[in-house]
Amino acid sequence: MSKKDTKIVEAGRRKAWTLGSVNPPVFHTSTVIFDTVAEMTAAGRKSHEIMSYGRRGTPTSFALCDALTTLSGAAGTVLYPSGLAAITTAMLAFAKAGTKVFIADSVYEPTRYFADHVLAKFGVEVIYYDPLIGAGISEMLDDRVSVVALESPGSITMEIQDVPAIASAAHAVNATVILDNTWATPFYFDALAHGVDVSVQALTKYVVGHSDAMLGSATANARAIDTLRRQSGAIGQCAGPDDVYLGLRGLRTLPVRLTRHQESALTIAKWLQGQRRVAEVRHPALPGAPGHELWRRDFTGATGVFSFVLEEDNETAITAFVEGMRHFKLGFSWGGFESLVMFYRHLSRIRTAAPWTAGPVIRLQVGLEDADDLIADLADAFARYEAVIERN
Ligand SMILES: *Cc1c(COP(=O)(O)O)cnc(C)c1O
Repeated sequence: MSKKDTKIVEAGRRKAWTLGSVNPPVFHTSTVIFDTVAEMTAAGRKSHEIMSYGRRGTPTSFALCDALTTLSGAAGTVLYPSGLAAITTAMLAFAKAGTKVFIADSVYEPTRYFADHVLAKFGVEVIYYDPLIGAGISEMLDDRVSVVALESPGSITMEIQDVPAIASAAHAVNATVILDNTWATPFYFDALAHGVDVSVQALTKYVVGHSDAMLGSATANARAIDTLRRQSGAIGQCAGPDDVYLGLRGLRTLPVRLTRHQESALTIAKWLQGQRRVAEVRHPALPGAPGHELWRRDFTGATGVFSFVLEEDNETAITAFVEGMRHFKLGFSWGGFESLVMFYRHLSRIRTAAPWTAGPVIRLQVGLEDADDLIADLADAFARYEAVIERN
């Protein structure tokens, strides 16, 4: 078996799809023309590897799906027009009226919004659990649970979950385990090997890697793939060919980019630990971070996103911190080549099972710039923050 770096270069490059070129062409198509009824029937039966209709896939999307499937040792992959569409469709595919869906308290906020405002509308009971609950979740689960949805590390607060323990408790009641694996990517966390049935990626982030496309994927094991494919198809999910191509292009260089994101983020996280206004650095690879031991046990690396907690919540000071930065740009999302900064002053609003009582949080996406330049940028930001605090 090849190593992941090799797989990521070679996977999905079937000649039937690439036509002999290194990369598959970008297929812009709706209708596919068949010479015979037999050919049409055969294509319809294998619509995830032979073109039958644009929405059902083209060699461009087959190549990306196959690459993601191979990388995860999975049974198949479905693509979506965004990461959010991937997570919501995966949850819809397995949730049923009259059942309960358990969701980690630190999930991506729009996932939470979907559960509260869409799933709930269809008679699904939505329950949030403490992301650090581990095997203890089994006490909360019963045979009315259809889905357990994890995200590890959690968004913003970065808790690493005990994925194998939670997955085995979920499987004991026949629930489907869905994990949002966007942070680690399949490169640093083997979701399916740790008990996950459906591993979701906002490909928009590190896989696309250049902040120029919206794209999502859900990669499933043999137990879940048929339902996932049928239900996603029923809803009409598909992704645009140019974005799919950018996803595949980004995937090829993912490991080298991640190595650099990882190295610089860790350097900066350690530097932040020495700053006097920082109450806590939440980077899964740092000892003491929530779930750090689980990260060491289960992950093979860390990417470029992490957070730190400030001692003092002062709106003017935080604004001064984030507004004047030269390299860290203020913006949503992450995973591109560029550094980003984001701040959260009202986290308690989106944490119910594990209430947030610490201070305001700054989240960084550490890009591919020189780490010393980024540290200098942060040092200046702390000076601006400090100046406001001292004035008060
Ligand atoms: C950004 C993000 C998403 C959503 O992805 P989009 O492509 O922006 O819809 C989902 N999950 C996590 C963890 C994310 O960070």
